[in-house]
Amino acid sequence: LAPSHSGARRWRRILYWIPVLFIGLLLGWSYYAYAGQLCVVSMENIGEQVVCLIVYHLLFAMFVWSYWKTIFTLPMNPSKEFHLSYAEKELLEREPRGETHQEILKRAARDLPVYTRTMSGAIRYCDRCQLIKPDRCHHCSVCDKCILKMDHHCPWVNNCVGFSNYKFFLLFLAYSLLYCLFIAATDLQYFIKFWTNGLPDTQAKFHIMFLFFAAAMFSVSLSSLFGYHCWLVSKNKSTLEAFRSPVFRHGTDKNGFSLGFSKNLRQVFGDEKKYWPLPVFSSLGDGCSFPTCLVNQDLEQPSTPAGLTPAIKNLEGHQFPSKPLRESQSHLLTDSQSWTDNSTNLDKGKVGKKDNLCSFVLKDEKLNLMVHVKCDLL
Ligand SMILES: [Zn+2]
Ligand SMILES: [Zn+2]
Repeated sequence: LAPSHSGARRWRRILYWIPVLFIGLLLGWSYYAYAGQLCVVSMENIGEQVVCLIVYHLLFAMFVWSYWKTIFTLPMNPSKEFHLSYAEKELLEREPRGETHQEILKRAARDLPVYTRTMSGAIRYCDRCQLIKPDRCHHCSVCDKCILKMDHHCPWVNNCVGFSNYKFFLLFLAYSLLYCLFIAATDLQYFIKFWTNGLPDTQAKFHIMFLFFAAAMFSVSLSSLFGYHCWLVSKNKSTLEAFRSPVFRHGTDKNGFSLGFSKNLRQVFGDEKKYWPLPVFSSLGDGCSFPTCLVNQDLEQPSTPAGLTPAIKNLEGHQFPSKPLRESQSHLLTDSQSWTDNSTNLDKGKVGKKDNLCSFVLKDEKLNLMVHVKCDLL
């Protein structure tokens, strides 16, 4: 890079920290205003003072911890197996586009658990990183990298929100919302006193007023953002997927990764409930491959028309449904690395278990149809 180019990039990197600095300063001021000016200076009741200070510090600590983890957890990038080999890159350079280009990519992606495609049905490939994009992975133009299960690039944390820190981001939203609601609720009576001239004429009264305004304003914006992300988690969607549904081999499927409410929740928060409220990593999977609900509807819902019975019938009768079912990878579900290389016409031997899930993989080479039926053992 030319010196002026790298200089501009360095300046841009510094500028990206301004929103984080703004939140940091706001948080520092809110600590001084709430703990110092409101609790210590203005509250007269000792009991109220102690309870407010304890709850406040607890929320403050959780807020700072989850915010810190969201900012400083590095986003995860696709593993080595998704990168093209030197020979494959050379071949691609000779065939910049067209059918041969796609053939090279298809061959390279043969053993990879990639089930999503571009809008035109092609293999998702990142020219910039020279790799085959895993499902739910996107290239971030700010980070200039491919980010696993990318949600969005967040300027308020100066980081990409994705597989590695999505849980931290959700907790950051939740604790910052609780922090603002708590401040607004406990500050309200002093805020009213301000307008009815019930407060002594000190500088504390202005801190109390601004604190209420700021807390109420942030509560409104945070609750809408947090509500939106709760909905996304319940549907197992990323922000990017909410705007553009993922395309599978059989077509677009807006609920392609949804496994039903409780399983969707566990995908982000993990199986152990004691870790749910803490910003420690507990999400399920490796970020490169994701289980999907394959039989049209959520398996948890009894209204599922296909249910388990037709799937088992298929398994026994070796008959495939005329309409392709929802496909999936199953690194999370099967123990085997790959099943696509199997030369037998019908392979129903690969059965894997994880998280109380059982997956059967059937493959018919001639029809080039793969039915991946997953059923809940419980
Ligand atoms: Zn990329
Ligand atoms: Zn980014």
